[in-house]
Amino acid sequence: MNDTIAAVAASGGPIGIIRVSGAQAIGAVSAVFSPKNGSPLAEAASQKLVYGTLSDKNGHLLDACYAVVFRAPHTYTGEDMAEIQCHGSTAVLTAALDALFAHGVRQAEAGEFTRRAFLNDKMGLSEAEAVHDLITARTVEAAQNAAAQMMGAVGSSVQQMRDKLLGMVAHFHAIVDFPDEDIDPILFDDAAALLHQTTSQLYRMAESYERGRILREGVPCVILGRPNAGKSTLLNTLLGRERAIVTDIPGTTRDLIEENVKVGQILLRVTDTAGLRDTTDPVEQAGIDRAMAEASASALILAVFDGSKAIGEEDMLVLARSAGHRAIAVLNKTDLPQQLDEELLKKQFAHIVHLSAKTGEGMDRLLSLIPRTIGFGETAFDGALITNARQAAALARAAERCEAALYAAQCGMTPDAVVMDAEGAIAALGEITGETVTESVVTRIFSDFCVGK
Ligand code: GDP
Repeated sequence: MNDTIAAVAASGGPIGIIRVSGAQAIGAVSAVFSPKNGSPLAEAASQKLVYGTLSDKNGHLLDACYAVVFRAPHTYTGEDMAEIQCHGSTAVLTAALDALFAHGVRQAEAGEFTRRAFLNDKMGLSEAEAVHDLITARTVEAAQNAAAQMMGAVGSSVQQMRDKLLGMVAHFHAIVDFPDEDIDPILFDDAAALLHQTTSQLYRMAESYERGRILREGVPCVILGRPNAGKSTLLNTLLGRERAIVTDIPGTTRDLIEENVKVGQILLRVTDTAGLRDTTDPVEQAGIDRAMAEASASALILAVFDGSKAIGEEDMLVLARSAGHRAIAVLNKTDLPQQLDEELLKKQFAHIVHLSAKTGEGMDRLLSLIPRTIGFGETAFDGALITNARQAAALARAAERCEAALYAAQCGMTPDAVVMDAEGAIAALGEITGETVTESVVTRIFSDFCVGK
């Protein structure tokens, strides 16, 4: 960990960034970068951009650009760092990296900067994981939640709970160590109160993962309906652009099309399906089979019915496939004379939206209904939603142990019974903050990161 690492942190645009961290970071960048003002980069003020020229490993001019140094300990990794902000071509970035490698710097591994930040106590593990969430965020809301977590929204509340439990356990240890002294019953009452409060907070946090995951990954959604019901038109209207082929010939939407649509605060991962109908065409049948498989695994079904036609056999199939799912019935083509008997739909669906996918009438109601059906009304994304499976599992484990400790305290069991379970909860919470996490878990977490972060 004492060596100096470098990686391209931004590329593909007009400007590229190379970041360097470690004891040799400032020296190595100074060796390849000459400030225009004539004074060495190594003497430049921390966090101030310096204009100058960048050389390749043979000392030939490579770019005219900026460099900046960051002096430890007030840096991302806690080590000395430097960055080169040069032109973003692969040629420039590769040659600049090569020049640094010639000065004793090595290529950084995936997530190595953030891993160093964690190991140098610049951030806890949940904050480091939030960095990854922020980089991969697909919606503004997911980014906001991740940003709040990166600033400690999860880490600090977990830390607080952990500290309180540690304080309680210390008290109990004192009793265990002096068994002859009488136990003050108030101690058990206080412990029970703390454990009760902590248990419910932990369960609440663990349960928020269901919504947190939706926030991070989006919701799979399948549009079901017989051919010509208007599925592709609906998808296009959702997307606000033409993507699926819309035709009058039944069964043209043969393959599955997946699209991301932002509805309210969430991302719908919509699959348009081949028409659901009995067919002998093998290609079409394959599409239908896949549509069925998708439907049973999906979170939300939009069941589209052609309101201008009486309900048919194929519609019955759609009804059957939608049963038991979170589903919204879309009664489409309301701009045409209506033939469909709505009573049948009312029996199964809590919500029926009258829509003309063609004119867009009814679309607003559908759009407002979708988040509510998923259980996602307007929410502030302040980091309160757990978005990370590892953290959710550790929270659930901590909650169980806390509950067991509560039971022990309430039943007036021996102090060490309370202590044993409370320590289990403390250890589980330490996995979130990173205090009691194993090396292999840390390695796995950071290997998911991209290089340069
Ligand atoms: P799919 O087979 O379910 O994907 O149906 P399409 O989206 O391809 O639509 C089939 C036909 O119905 C096309 O000619 C559409 O223009 C038409 N259509 C779709 N929605 C409406 C609607 O709300 N009103 C009317 N009048 N026609 C529609």
